[in-house]
Amino acid sequence: MAFLIPSRAARSGDDPIFALNAEARKRALAGEPVINATVGALLDDDGKLAVLPGVAEALRAVPTAVSAGYAPIAGPDDFLRAVVGDLFGDRTTSGWATGVATPGGTGALRLAVTSFLEPGQALLTSSFYWGPYQTIADEAERRVETFRMFDGQGRLDVADFEKQLARQREAQGRALVLLNSPCHNPTGYSFDADEQKAIAEVVAREAARCPVAVLLDIAYARYGATDPRHFMDRLIDLGGQALVLLAWSASKAFTLYGQRVGALVAVHPEAFERVRLKNAFAYGCRGTWSNCNASGMAAVTRVLSDPELRTRVDKERGALKSLLDQRVARWNQLAGPARLPYPRYSGGFFTTVFCQDPEGACARLKAEGVFVVPLPGALRVALCSVAERDIPRLVDAMARALA
Ligand code: PLP
Repeated sequence: MAFLIPSRAARSGDDPIFALNAEARKRALAGEPVINATVGALLDDDGKLAVLPGVAEALRAVPTAVSAGYAPIAGPDDFLRAVVGDLFGDRTTSGWATGVATPGGTGALRLAVTSFLEPGQALLTSSFYWGPYQTIADEAERRVETFRMFDGQGRLDVADFEKQLARQREAQGRALVLLNSPCHNPTGYSFDADEQKAIAEVVAREAARCPVAVLLDIAYARYGATDPRHFMDRLIDLGGQALVLLAWSASKAFTLYGQRVGALVAVHPEAFERVRLKNAFAYGCRGTWSNCNASGMAAVTRVLSDPELRTRVDKERGALKSLLDQRVARWNQLAGPARLPYPRYSGGFFTTVFCQDPEGACARLKAEGVFVVPLPGALRVALCSVAERDIPRLVDAMARALA
C-alpha cells in the first residue's frame, strides 16, 4: 500500500554526515586512534562538546514558569530586542529591523524560503553550500540554483553571481539569495571587503529590476576574522531597494545547538512594509513550528541583556575562538606546504580540500582512521572537532589520500 505521496516515498532517512560520525565514534570507542573531522560542533581537545559556562548557568536559572509555558508565536519582545541589539549595536538602522524567533538558523532559512519564493521557484546560492539548503528547499517544494563560487584566481566569482541572478530575474521575476559568510560552511571562505562591495553592486543593479531578497546566513559570525556587520551595512545602504534578511542563530554563538534558538530578521526602511513582513513571518511560524523554545530564548535574552553576564560570556567565547584559531593557524601552516588545494581560510569551523574523487579519498582516509565528509568535488574537514595535536596526522593522511 502506497501511504506516502510519491514525492516523499524515496526520501533518504540517513543524514550522511551523521552516519559517518556514528562510524567514527564506534571505532574510537573500540580503542582506535580515530580523527573525527565530521562533527559540525566545536569540541575541546578531549573531544567533548565545548560549552560556554555562563550560558549554561543562565539556562539552568530559567524559572519553571517560563520554561514550561508557551512563548509568544513571533517570539518574546525582549528576546527580539536583544537579537536586534546584538546585530545592530547602536546603529540607527536598528529601527528598520523587524523579525521573529525561529528554531535555530535552520528555521530562519525555512521561513525565508517559503516567504520569498513561490512553490517551484529556486533560491540562489554559491556552488558549494550547506547541504540542508537543498533539504529545506525540497521540503518546501522549492529548488536550489547556484553560481560558481570560485573564479580562476580562487576568489568569489561575482561575475557568475551577476549572470545567475539576472537569469533568475528573467526566469522567475524574483530572487532569494542565500550568502553564508563569514566562515562559509563547507569551504571556510569569508568574503573580503572588495567581494562584499562587488556583491552589493550586483544586488543594487538587479534589485532595480525585480524584488531581490538577500539573506545573510551568519551562523558562524562570532568565529570569523572580521566583523560580519560591514557586509550587512553595505546591503542596508541600498536603502530598502533590496530586502536584507539575517538568519541569526544561537547554536554556535552561545553553544546552544540543542536549544534551537534563532531568528529571522528583515531590514526595511518603511514601517508599513515591516508590519507586512512581520505578519507574514508570524503566520509562517504558526503554520510550521508554532512557537520556539521558551527556556533557550530566556537564557539568551539574559546573556545579551545583563551587561555583567554578557561580558563574561564574551570572554568565555573568546577563549573558544582562540582554541579554534590555533587549529586554523596550524592547518594553514601545514596544508599549504603539503600542497592540499583549499580556499582562503582565516577562521571558522570548516575548511574544504578540493579533489577529483572525494568518495575514493574519503574511503582511503577512513581505512586509516581519518573521517572527513565527501562533497561534490571536495572533502569537508571540520577543524572544529579536531585537536591541534592531531592536525599534522590529518594533513599528512589527506596529502597521501589525494596523491
Ligand atoms: N547555516 C549554516 C551554514 C550552518 O552550518 C548551520 C548549522 O550547522 C546553520 C545555518 C543553522 O544551524 P542552527 O539551525 O542550529 O542554528
